[in-house]
This record gives sequence, structure tokens and C-alpha cells, in this order.
Amino acid sequence: MNNLTIVQAHKGLLEKKFSALELTKLFLNKIKKEDKKFSSFITVTDDLALSQAKKVDKLISARKKIPILAGVPLAVKDNILVKGIKTTCASKILENYVAPYDATCIKKLKELGAVILGKTNLDEFAMGSSTEHSAFFPTKNPHDLTRVPGGSSGGSAAAVAADLCCYALGSDTGGSIRQPASFCGVNGLKPTYGAISRYGLIAFASSLDQIGPITKTAEDAQIVFDAISGRDQLDSTSVELRIKNYELRIKDLKIGIPKEYFIKGMDPKVEKIVRQAIGKIEKIGAKIEEISLPHTEYALPVYYIIMPSEASANLARYDGIKYGLSKSSKDLLSVYLKSRADGFGDEVKRRIMLGTYALSAGYYDAYYLKAQKVRTLIRHDFDKAFKKVDAIFTPTSPFTAFRLGEKIKDPLSMYLSDVFTASVNLVGLPAISVPIGFSGKLPVGLQIIGKPFEENKILEISKIYE
Ligand code: GLN
Repeated sequence: MNNLTIVQAHKGLLEKKFSALELTKLFLNKIKKEDKKFSSFITVTDDLALSQAKKVDKLISARKKIPILAGVPLAVKDNILVKGIKTTCASKILENYVAPYDATCIKKLKELGAVILGKTNLDEFAMGSSTEHSAFFPTKNPHDLTRVPGGSSGGSAAAVAADLCCYALGSDTGGSIRQPASFCGVNGLKPTYGAISRYGLIAFASSLDQIGPITKTAEDAQIVFDAISGRDQLDSTSVELRIKNYELRIKDLKIGIPKEYFIKGMDPKVEKIVRQAIGKIEKIGAKIEEISLPHTEYALPVYYIIMPSEASANLARYDGIKYGLSKSSKDLLSVYLKSRADGFGDEVKRRIMLGTYALSAGYYDAYYLKAQKVRTLIRHDFDKAFKKVDAIFTPTSPFTAFRLGEKIKDPLSMYLSDVFTASVNLVGLPAISVPIGFSGKLPVGLQIIGKPFEENKILEISKIYE
């Protein structure tokens, strides 16, 4: 029963190769024994998982038809609320915060009988690219324990890669599903903005955040996406999807390769493997076309203005009164100041300062407003490109998993991790990272970007690489 996908787990349950309870215990034991090496979980939810599994077994023994996700164990990034379970965001400020309700995606999964094994590690408030910014401990890459799993959904990606669950949920604001998926050799889908409700996802940068699946196959990603997407009254930016099944006809497929995404300084081995993957789809009949996304070089600077601005506003709610850590002090203002000073880590403070600065009177026009204008130019680049092509291929990351400690002291070099992923969030497009090979023992990911709400198309294309 190694490395079970969702599809295989479902089949095993139907054929009574194992019960949901047996499957759940198998994963819980595996986590207990093996996660010491990776540190991918912050909280393991044995009781919840076992009770969910028992319910599914009852349905099976009553010969009820079960949904494909029923009895299949998953892990959830610890910035997504699961009722009655601690949701820490890997921050001291929420260390003892217990979620009072389920996120909409969790509610949907529970209704389908999904089994939640626990909550996974992340960079504090999802700010980072290595999971080293967790206030508790770093997570390690299952392919090489001296290296990072990527971030911020590093715990989720590592848990899937180490086979400690069948699949996981992550969140992606500037690359946090795709980059760790690429570093850990698994599939990570960042859906179109609005495709999945953000209700119950702890807000980081609200115009960029999306929840998405991290899975062992593209088919699994499709299953999870179908299960959790759609309009939700509780998130006004979510939309009803009319996603069509998409039948892939390779001969009609046009793939754009943006010349700005093969930059100086990227790892030549990564470039080679990505070029080989492009060659492979060309060989079976797709048309490859070089395209230009001329404002690409501004994506990262624009992201690092808009993202901290929104973050500084969203994180104002942690005041030592409403949620989590509260430091007692002589007056209200010092309660605020002390709780925030003690509760937030350095990276979070850095971004609050950047964002507050960019939004302050006198600077707003020069930074935030200007960044929003350039964001529109970036969108126009993609609109134009998608008139000619069906999908865009790029590397997910310019390099493979780096060493623990290698970039943590140098925020700017850490920020460069997002160079190929951040524009997709600025524009709200769907994109997936698919594993396409190894450089040494480290996985390399291909990013496939699609038109809005064409998740099914990029997922079908991904299957070519399996
Ligand atoms: N690495 C990016 C950042 O540090 C992306 C984070 C994310 O997508 N949550 O902001």
C-alpha cells in the first residue's frame, strides 16, 4: 500500500482491500514513525481522523455508494480552519488559537467523508519560500534532508512527497503551492482567483490568495479541485464555475514559451530539463511558439508592494485582544504593542513595515497605486498571449531545492524564488506545477499556466508528463 493516490485509495476501499479505519491508522502510524525526519506536521488530529474513518466504514458496510474522497486521508496547511482544531499559521501569535468553524473547503471535504490527518507546517502566515520562517521548526525536503521543501506550503508538499497522506491542501499567494510542489516532486495546482472559496483561509494578501490541492497525480488534483470549487455565499469573490470537461487534442494544442522566463542566473540543469519537457510535447504534435510577456521583470517588484500592503492591513486584526497571544500590560496601547512585538516573527514584521510604508499618505500614489497600474499591464501581456496560445509553459522555479539556512539571512535572494510564479497571482490565472524529472536527486517542476477557469485544460496537459 505504498504511495497511494486518491484513485487507488478509493478503489482499495471499494474492493475491501482495506477499511477506511485501517487506511487511516496506517497513515497515522507512519506519521508517528517517520515525520520526525521531515517535521511536516504541526498538529496530528488522530481523534478526528479515526472518527471520520469510522463513519465512512459504516457507509461502506451498509452498501451505500461513497464519494471518491470518502475515507481518503489528507493533510491540511495550518492556515486553513478546521473546527475545534488548533490553527496556528505557524505563528506564536496564534499558537493556541482553536478554530471556531470550518473553512468552506473543509466543510465540503467533510461532507464528502474525507479523513483529516492533521495540520501542516508553513512559513509564518504563509510568508516565505522555504518553510524556515515557521515560528516552530523548519520542514525538511524528503528527497534530501539537508534541503528545504520550498514554501510556504512546505509541510503539505513534504507530507505528500513522503507519503504521509494521500493528498494535501495548500494556499498560494505568490507561488506557495507550486514552488514547494516543484521542490518536492509532486503536483500543485493554484486555481483561478475566485474558483475556490477563501472563507476560513487565514487572510494574507486577499487579492492574491487561493487554496489549492497538492497531489501525487494530475488526476487527483482534478478530483480535489472539483470537490472544493464553486460559489460560496461567504466569499463574495468566489464564483459559480461552469467548467467544461476538456478533451485534449494534442494536434490542436498551441503552447507559448515566454522568452522572459529563461533568465540569466537560472540553474542550467533546470533549464535543460524544462526544455526537454517542452520538446516532448512538441514531438507528440503540439505546436510550440515563442511568446513575449514584456512586463515580466516588474512582476516581482509589483508583487512585493501589493502583497505586503494587503498583508499589513489583514494582520492589523492581531492586536492581543481579539485572537491568540495577549500580553498583559499597563494600558491598551501597550497590550497591542507587546502582543504584536512578541507574537510576530521577523519576516512578518518586515512585511508589515513594508506594507504600512507603501500605503502611507504621500507614498500611496508612488507605490501602491503605481503597482496596481503595472499589474494591469502584466494582465494585458497575458491577455495578448492567450489570444495566440492555449497554455504557457515556464519553469516553476529557477533552481531546485536549496539548502536549509542558505537564503534565510538574505530576504532578497529568498524573494527571487517567486520570480516565475508571482505574476500568475497578480493576474489571477490558474497554474499547475508538474514534476518532470530530476537534477541529481532533486525534483524539477514545469509550470503550466492556463486561461481563467481552464483548470481542466492544464490538468489534461499535465497528464502527458505522468
Ligand atoms: N514565497 C512567496 C512569499 O514569500 C509566496 C508566498 C505564498 O504564496 N503564500 O510571499
